[in-house]
Amino acid sequence: MAMSEGIKKFYRVMREIFVDKFSCISCDEELFEQDGSGLCDACKKQLIPIESLRCAKCGRAIANESEYCTTCMNNLRHFDYARECYVYDGLASKLVHGLKFGGKRYYSYYMAMPMIDKYLDEDMACDIAIPAPMHKAVRRQRKFNHAALLAQEFADRLRLDYTDEAIVKLINNKEQAKLGARERENNAVGVYGAGKAAALLKGKRVLIIDDVLTTGSTASAIAQAVYKCGASKVTVLAYAATSYKLKSEVGNNEDEMV
Ligand SMILES: [Zn+2]
Ligand SMILES: [Zn+2]
Repeated sequence: MAMSEGIKKFYRVMREIFVDKFSCISCDEELFEQDGSGLCDACKKQLIPIESLRCAKCGRAIANESEYCTTCMNNLRHFDYARECYVYDGLASKLVHGLKFGGKRYYSYYMAMPMIDKYLDEDMACDIAIPAPMHKAVRRQRKFNHAALLAQEFADRLRLDYTDEAIVKLINNKEQAKLGARERENNAVGVYGAGKAAALLKGKRVLIIDDVLTTGSTASAIAQAVYKCGASKVTVLAYAATSYKLKSEVGNNEDEMV
């Protein structure tokens, strides 16, 4: 009967949202054991971790042993350093898109896990976590700030302080994704400012959480606003980062946070 089918579907959806999902969140393959990643072994192998060959400042993977990528060599970075778990490609970008545009809010539960590992491995000790802010007009349209979902999940599990009201996005600037690297730097200036909970950042080591770091100009602009609130240290942690010298470096449809 239609009614009972409807109820079954309701319970299935509720279970997927509120209880652990028992199939791979990417390919739907059944999962027999859960390690918190939500992914089957084959899918996990598709993620490319960012390891030792990376820019010491922005954390993006680089192809040689230089200490910094040229973006960081040529631009002031207001954050102390940024770290990311995976190269923003293939499955990592699929998950980010699912979270951001596909209504898969529950992905944040699984995506926060490698971020927690990264945070602990890198000894990123902070006092308070904040998400990359979203302009209220964009949030109204998208219904939620996906960076805030990641940051809340992250902070909850580590029992860190969390606020999404310390820094606000004042200007709804053009999406960084549509701009080249140099334009991104200019586009991010003055966009972020202190919100009503800004006092919470004073004297604190603040961690900015985002989904993807592209050139780092957005993260840098947010970090500048955080320092203006009196933070003692500002670091950035994102789920993924574009590889240095991907096409996104010169601007295409890769999406840095808005
Ligand atoms: Zn899978
Ligand atoms: Zn860099």
